[in-house]
Amino acid sequence: MVNLPKFFKQEDPQPTWATLPLLPLRDIVVFPHMVAPLFVGRAKSVNALTEAMNSDKRVFLATQKKAGVDSPEEKDINKVGTIGSILQLLRLPDGTVKALVEGKHRGRITRFTSTEADAFKVAVEPLAPPEESPLELEAFGRSLVQSFEAYAKIDKNISKDLISNVSTISDPDKLADTLASHFSFKIQDKQRLLEAVKLSERLSLLTQLINTETEIIEVDRRIKGRVKDQMEKTQKNYYLNEQMRAIKKEMGSEEDPAEELNELEKRIKRKRMSKEAAAKVRQEFKKLKLMTPMSAEATVVRNYIDWLISLPWFDRSKVRKDIDAAEVILNEDHYGLEKPKERILEYLAVQALVKKLRGPILCLVGPPGVGKTSLAKSVARATGRKFVRLSLGGVRDEAEIRGHRRTYIGAMPGKIIQSLKKAGTNNPVFCLDEVDKMSMDFRGDPSAALLEVLDPEQNYSFNDHYLDVDYDLSDIMFITTANTLPDIPLPLQDRMEVIRLPGYTEVEKYHIAEKFLIPKQIEANGLKDKPVTISKNAVMSIIREYTREAGVRNLEREIAAICRKVAREVTKSDNADTTHRITGNSIQKLLGPPRFKFGQKEETDQIGMVTGLAWTQVGGEILCVEALTMPGKGEMIVTGKLGDVMKESAQAAFSYVRSRAENLMLDKDFYKTIDLHIHIPEGAIPKDGPSAGISMCTAIASVFTRRAVRRDIAMTGEITLRGRVLPIGGLKEKVLAAHRGNIDTIIVPKENEKDIRDIPSSVSKKLNIILVEHMDEVLAHALITPKGERLFKNSGIPMALNTKQPEAERPLI
Ligand code: ADP
Repeated sequence: MVNLPKFFKQEDPQPTWATLPLLPLRDIVVFPHMVAPLFVGRAKSVNALTEAMNSDKRVFLATQKKAGVDSPEEKDINKVGTIGSILQLLRLPDGTVKALVEGKHRGRITRFTSTEADAFKVAVEPLAPPEESPLELEAFGRSLVQSFEAYAKIDKNISKDLISNVSTISDPDKLADTLASHFSFKIQDKQRLLEAVKLSERLSLLTQLINTETEIIEVDRRIKGRVKDQMEKTQKNYYLNEQMRAIKKEMGSEEDPAEELNELEKRIKRKRMSKEAAAKVRQEFKKLKLMTPMSAEATVVRNYIDWLISLPWFDRSKVRKDIDAAEVILNEDHYGLEKPKERILEYLAVQALVKKLRGPILCLVGPPGVGKTSLAKSVARATGRKFVRLSLGGVRDEAEIRGHRRTYIGAMPGKIIQSLKKAGTNNPVFCLDEVDKMSMDFRGDPSAALLEVLDPEQNYSFNDHYLDVDYDLSDIMFITTANTLPDIPLPLQDRMEVIRLPGYTEVEKYHIAEKFLIPKQIEANGLKDKPVTISKNAVMSIIREYTREAGVRNLEREIAAICRKVAREVTKSDNADTTHRITGNSIQKLLGPPRFKFGQKEETDQIGMVTGLAWTQVGGEILCVEALTMPGKGEMIVTGKLGDVMKESAQAAFSYVRSRAENLMLDKDFYKTIDLHIHIPEGAIPKDGPSAGISMCTAIASVFTRRAVRRDIAMTGEITLRGRVLPIGGLKEKVLAAHRGNIDTIIVPKENEKDIRDIPSSVSKKLNIILVEHMDEVLAHALITPKGERLFKNSGIPMALNTKQPEAERPLI
């Protein structure tokens, strides 16, 4: 049963539909239980009110769909509205009317009875909420009240009356409409609330809307709070700064900003700079004067000016041009290294003759610890220039060389400019270490920037991004160092003249230790005036059994370790005056058990075991190549962490041996029932390169012909499919490694003959160097053929087998 309001006749079972004048509302929704003042101006609306006043004061209040429509038609008016009653009507002098209406009951327009006439008239059907579970309604009601309370807590503008009113309303229907009328929701939302006749629906919608309002207020507050905090902080900082200044002033230590600026101006005036830089500084200084001294921008500008005026624009060291004196200094600092020293002296001589040297940059290439950096330092000493060193290892960002633009926060000049500031002169020896270790990524290519630094055609106007003015680098003597040449970008290589420092022989190392490293370490460890001697045997034992390197860095380290141990002994009071003699026998006590076995040679001649020679970044190395056969299907396995080139080289070697099967007196299908495994131990170290070709081929031939390989022979050379032996790189390093490994015969490609000159005579005298052009020669030398047997079917080996070279061809050593 529907609850009908009083003005519908209760006794009538089919309520007569009321026909009421319609008052279209622009921007308000009148809810039941709500009293609202309405200002009515439109003639049709005024007529509707008059008509209502003339009958029972009832009027239908329906909101327009769009507030802006002036003469609404049927389609512009929402169907659901409120039946209201006029409480008061006041005609104003301008013809408009102020009406006080009270919402009574929801209703829906079923029909427009008159649209054309002076006023709209509509037939209205009453809408009443259907029956619902009281428990459910109670729950919805409570949730609404909670939401409202939460809202009331944070909205300070909400009226006290409403709060107290809400607490007295027990009817959920009335509660919902009262609350709905008090909130300033959007008109569409209000209309939705009016149309929600079902009470549970209305309560839940209203709860949702109120919760959204609460959230909006909270977010709004948070934003306002943050802004306020920020402002308070800035203000606080300002006050504190001001206070600090006041305190400083009181204590007499105030740096008056004006004073500071004066000081800076004086420094600017005193400094000699390039024209461009001076103009830039003046311009920036002008800006600085207009800035608040404590501001962040002022600090940036001040830093910039500071950089410009602290660079050595025209400050230079007086360069010594006496080449003989320079030679003495180079010899004082380094043992041996004749070729590099000679080249450096030539370079210095040319520099002394011409005013500006636009020649190539020197690049010292060699394994670690051979004295590249210290040689560069020595050049600085010999020429009276300052020395700066910059390691490029791991530099991958162009900005590290060329600096960041000033717009970046915390921007700085690049490392070149930074180093120059440190040097304090514009003509130092600038050592760029590890040019081969630069890398490139998305931040730009540092080698391109370096190119500009090193190019004599460009470097008189080097532009650092931070400085933003050209700086002349052309008086700097650049020396670069690298471990390997191939890793240096080609355009850079093009600018440089390479001087190789290939590594030292045992004897050279001994001399370096005796003349340089031991005195240096004795002094560094405070043993200068103490009776300490280190015997030759001791040094040789360190070289052979405790270090395996091309340079002398570890040797120096071990000598330092010994000196520290002696220093410890000396400080024990009762030992103060005893002489400390370090001999070969005492080394084990000081340094522990030997780390390397001296002499790499195998104990016996073995089948499938070949000694190869390799070249790595740290110098020459002895490389073992092992081969083995087992029953199988003619496959080949290659292991030992080998690169592609090395694997292909193994394939070529295998093919070559197969192609020579007949001549090696092997069965035609000899390989079909066996698998071949080639392994190069120390599998953790990656290996690549073609120069193990002949070693692998010898190992393969050895296992197939079942002939042992001579253990005192080491070899290096690339092999072609037809068995030609091609030249290899790094011969000197490899020969030194063989020498270190106590090997007396080495097989080397004939085309490397020219490189033999570089090998120190002390080494080459002791070595039997066999030059070969063809693989068959290698096999003939390396494989042991029992007496009375032959290795090849056809006795004629393609090439001559002369192990000793004719006297006339012996290299000049
Ligand atoms: P690199 O730059 O080639 O890695 P360093 O210049 O750092 O090597 O040299 C390592 C150490 O070895 C330095 O203390 C250096 O003085 C010393 N050294 C290297 N070669 C010689 C030499 N020929 N004479 C004297 N000392 C040397």
